Amino acid sequence: MRATLLPYSRHSVEEDDIQAVIEVLRSDWLTTGPKISSFEGAFAERVGARYAVAVSSGTAALHAAAFAAGVAHGHHVVVSPMSFVASANCARYQGAMVIFADVAADTLNLDPRCVAANLTEETRAIVTVDYAGQPSDLEELGALAARYKLMLIEDASHALGASYHDRRVGSLADLTTFSLHPVKLITTGEGGMVTTNDAALASRARAFRNHGITTDHRQRSRAASWLYEMVELGFNYRLTDCQSALGLSQLKKLDRWLRRRTEIADRYAAAFAGIPEVEVPTVKSDRRSAWHLYVIRLRLDRLRASREQIFRALRAENIGVNVHYIPIPWHPYYQRLGYAKGQWPVAEDAYERMLSLPMFPGMDDGQVDDVIRAVEKVTAYYRR
Ligand SMILES: *Cc1c(COP(=O)(O)O)cnc(C)c1O
Repeated sequence: MRATLLPYSRHSVEEDDIQAVIEVLRSDWLTTGPKISSFEGAFAERVGARYAVAVSSGTAALHAAAFAAGVAHGHHVVVSPMSFVASANCARYQGAMVIFADVAADTLNLDPRCVAANLTEETRAIVTVDYAGQPSDLEELGALAARYKLMLIEDASHALGASYHDRRVGSLADLTTFSLHPVKLITTGEGGMVTTNDAALASRARAFRNHGITTDHRQRSRAASWLYEMVELGFNYRLTDCQSALGLSQLKKLDRWLRRRTEIADRYAAAFAGIPEVEVPTVKSDRRSAWHLYVIRLRLDRLRASREQIFRALRAENIGVNVHYIPIPWHPYYQRLGYAKGQWPVAEDAYERMLSLPMFPGMDDGQVDDVIRAVEKVTAYYRR
């Protein structure tokens, strides 16, 4: 067995990433400088979107997207329960009510039929999550959004570099959000991005990250003017130049890292094909996953152990398994708002059986084999 814990995810920071940040530290601009728009430009180009707005976290990106989409008190927002809490919280920040719709059993992405069944007069937006890196059913969700005049927000925190019908994630919803946290596809330490093809939505998100002020510092100094106007209630959600330089440098490695993630997923799938207690993730043929997570589901009916026992046994083998995610409405905050458990049978069943295995581009083949051997050993031990 392994001598040290293999984490489920880990950032890759290389020497040129470090040099890029040092360069900014020696420059005139630590924040609100030129690296931010360079990073935004490169990011927009990479995802095929017209506009990109850099913000301080993936959560800030979701908040800015909800604001730009006009989500407000009295509105309903349909959200996937199978996500990190921030996907739903962005609606709450804007005073809206969250309606959780169930996911599809194969992908664990929002099931468009469940979304349709949960639309009301008050629905303003849909927040769909590209679970584990696989794009959502964007055509069906886009059609619903168009028919009912809703905003489609795609939480692509897991899906930077993924594609759908050969089109890149980032330009396929009204607003797409990304997280640049260290466990995600590329990192700026903390950071996020909102992308869109709509100039008005981009400018609303841009103002929102800077207190709702209409011009930024550099524009003012060019115009030699002291004037600025706060026209909306915004926040300080700015990304710094140091972070943007790191992001720019990381973005260059994305394709290499995506290839490695895909290789690891393929090795896992080949190995687990022979383990009947393990269900491997499925990716639909019309889309490509960024493989942020590798989530297996246990066939508990074939095992003499609970998910928790398997989890503990794998941790004892120094495999840093994790669970993504506890259904959002199960958290105490949402429980207090009155969401009874049992309303999302697919997401809830998946949660009870899932484990995230280590998946990050810095994993070597020996580490992948360690994971495979540990899964083989533990499932064989607990086999019925
Ligand atoms: C990581 C994540 C977020 C939040 O991003 P932060 O950068 O940590 O604020 C939101 N949604 C999903 C699906 C995530 O995985």
